[in-house]
Parts: sequence; structure tokens; C-alpha cells
Amino acid sequence: MVRTGIEPKNGRRRSGILPLIALLILSSFGCNQSPTDKKAVSQEQPSAKKTKIVTTFLPIYWFTKAVAGDVAEVEILVPPGTEVHEYQAKPENVKAIATANILVKNGLGLEGFLEETVKNAQNPKLIEIDTSKGIKPVEAISPVVKTSKEEKDHNHEHTSGNPHIWLDPVMAKQQVINIRDGLIAADPQNKATYEANSAAYIQKLDQLNSEFQQTLQKYPNCTFVTFHDAYPYLAQRYKLKQVAVVEIPEDQLSPTDVQNAVNAVKKYQVKALFTEPGTDNKLLKSLSQDLKLNLQTLDSLENGETDPQHYFQGMKANLQTLEAACK
Ligand SMILES: [Zn+2]
Repeated sequence: MVRTGIEPKNGRRRSGILPLIALLILSSFGCNQSPTDKKAVSQEQPSAKKTKIVTTFLPIYWFTKAVAGDVAEVEILVPPGTEVHEYQAKPENVKAIATANILVKNGLGLEGFLEETVKNAQNPKLIEIDTSKGIKPVEAISPVVKTSKEEKDHNHEHTSGNPHIWLDPVMAKQQVINIRDGLIAADPQNKATYEANSAAYIQKLDQLNSEFQQTLQKYPNCTFVTFHDAYPYLAQRYKLKQVAVVEIPEDQLSPTDVQNAVNAVKKYQVKALFTEPGTDNKLLKSLSQDLKLNLQTLDSLENGETDPQHYFQGMKANLQTLEAACK
């Protein structure tokens, strides 16, 4: 604006003051406006933005989803179909934890990948729920036959004891209670929902426990061989005997594993050999034929459908398998 330069002094002063006033009015208006804007947003946030919960693997997802229902967003870090015991964290896991409010884990050293992943996520507000809180772990209740190879391969932390607590309905109940209490503490607004949802799930867990008790009390000390040390808690609860020859499931059994299984069958009155779902191991098949033992499938529920009710279906199928084997 070249013309401003040739305007009279008065006019120039006026024109200098006016924009200043306008600016003051505008800026004070702006100042008033922005807090109200922020208020409107923050008033909306609690109801619109759900609490974000990340869970580690399937059973923890089931239990958490059952308690949270629809009032929180529940995610899973280890995708179903992926082996939890040897899991290596992915970049998206770090991202998920970085933006989460709550992290729920099984505990007892199962999630070996978690400590480093949580560190990398740098989320100081993250609330962690350890579902194994208050549960006394076992190193091994039933005799676990260990190979020298396994001792050497022991890179996943098992120092806190056997982690497979979810396979005992009574311990699963404790896990659900820990999740409920943790969610209520972190998100008290939804306390009533967490209480009602957990009560419904716990009722089904109690029912499952009495079914197991009633069915399996007929077969005390029924002994089975597993190729995954997943059932010491279940065996202890219902007075069965697990002889595990492999600590975590392997794609291919080693000759030592097979020899351990043969030794176990010689040593104990073994009723059945249990394999994992989805494994088609020829070696195991011929072994069971040689030993004249049934080879059946017991599900450690580390993989499967994401519906929380699947826990009950899977456990009931396990009960049928155990009864058929122990008869
Ligand atoms: Zn396992």
C-alpha cells in the first residue's frame, strides 16, 4: 500500500491505532473463545473416548473382554495363531502400548517379550494389571522330565514358575478378579459394568470347576503324558498326574523327547498321550502305537477364537478328552 505513505499525520496515527484496537479486540475475543473451545472438547472426551486396554495373549484377552464388555476398547498383542512362549514383539505392539491406558498380562514370566516392549513404548501413564497377582506358582507339581537341550535353550524366563494358570478354572477366576479390580481402580466410572460382567463370567467359571470336580473325582491319580508342560495346575486341582516331557510345544520332537516319553510310560501307569491341536506329528503317532496308548488332543487354549465364551467350550472339550482317557 504505497498510498498510506502520503496520508496526513493524523490519519496515519488513527489508522495505526484502529488496527491495534481491532487486534486487541480480536485477540481478547480469541482468548475468551479458546478456553470455551477446550472446555467443550474436554467435556466430550470422557464419554466419546473409551479406555484403551491392551492384553497380551488369547486367554488374557478373553478374560479382559469378558469384564470390560463394550465400555472399553480391548486389543490383543500376540495374534491368535502365534506362539506366545517364543513371541518376538513387533513395532505395532510398541505403538499399541504407547497409546494404551491399561496393559493386562498373564504374568509368571510367560510374556518374555513384554518388559522391553513396554520400555520402548515410553508411556509413563500406562497402568499394568498382572493377572497372576496373589497366585502361588509351581515350578513343577507333576514330574517334569527335562532334557539337557531344554536346560540350555532356557532363554524365556520361567524363573517365576509355570505360567499356565488359566487352565485351572479356580485360578482363572482369580485372574478375572484381578482384572476386575484393576479396571475398577483405573476406570472407576465404569465400576458397575465391570462388576456385573465379571460376576457373570465368574459364575460360569464356578460352574466349570464343579463339572471338572464331579467328572474327574472318579479317576484319582489318572496319569497322562504331555508334550507341553501346560497342565500342572489343572492336574493338581483335580488330582490327576501330568508327566510333561517337553516344556513348551515344539514343531518337531527330538529323539530325546521320544525317549523321555517312553521312559515315562515305563515308569508310570500312563493312560494317554496328549498332543496339541493342529499338530500332525507322525513320530508321535507311531510312538503311541508302539506304546499301545491313545494319542489325543488337549488344548492349552493359547490359540483359538476371540469370543470370551470360547474358554468354556475349549475347557469342556478338554474335560471330555480327559474323561475318555482316564476311564
Ligand atoms: Zn504354554
